[in-house]
Amino acid sequence: MPAPAGASAGIPPALAAAATAARDFFTALGVTEAEGNGPIEFRVDPASHDAAYRADLTLAPDGTGSLANERVEIGTDPFTGAPFWQAPDVVYHELTHRVAAHLVPGFGVTPTSRIVDESLADTFAAAIEGNWTLGEGLVPGGLRSSADPSSQLMLDGATRVHVATPTRVDEMTADSLAKGPYFNIGPLNHAAYLVGEALGTGLMARIYLEALRHHLPAAAGVTDLVLGTVRGAGTLFGAGSAEQLAVRDAWKSVGVRAAAVDSIT
Ligand SMILES: [Zn+2]
Repeated sequence: MPAPAGASAGIPPALAAAATAARDFFTALGVTEAEGNGPIEFRVDPASHDAAYRADLTLAPDGTGSLANERVEIGTDPFTGAPFWQAPDVVYHELTHRVAAHLVPGFGVTPTSRIVDESLADTFAAAIEGNWTLGEGLVPGGLRSSADPSSQLMLDGATRVHVATPTRVDEMTADSLAKGPYFNIGPLNHAAYLVGEALGTGLMARIYLEALRHHLPAAAGVTDLVLGTVRGAGTLFGAGSAEQLAVRDAWKSVGVRAAAVDSIT
């Protein structure tokens, strides 16, 4: 039996504390154990150079899914030697993947839906931690920032270097998409940052959870996230509300066509 989140035997206290913080955050948002906010096993493995939520997914013909053998693997950063649990936002990111996997069966397996999945993981991690930088517990300055997505630390062969990354959706080209989900999450992350700055991260998280619960297909692309957050804000706060307007404005600011954003009802 897996130990409860925050109480896996032998895990570092900081990792247990991060698991508890994520669980409390999602509980306050109304995310249940059946929705991926329950006990999970953490496997701390210093020989691994990855941090990842993993599970065995079985998809039924009706689109429902079941997840078995769920665990969060926590390795060591190959460049700093720091275990990934030293960055609590990395733990929050992985546990958000778990909630997303429960809410949208089969989510994040196509190249574009992986971008959406990774961005949602960063977005909730920022809300839980209370800052917009991911991974500053591992690397001074962090790996990437939703406040400034113009560059981020990326693997380049055997090294990790700052590279210029897209900041607007119209900069997400075939070339950029070929560089993988992290390279392309900046425009999505920055839209969430703009929503969070306008409304507070608590309301931002409610809007993004509404999108995840009710509006995102398993193969969601950027357009689905735009639709889902605008409609989610409409459901929660009313069509034409200041909150929905803030979401529309955020997407326009990262280059989604204004006419397209305004046409969403
Ligand atoms: Zn991720």
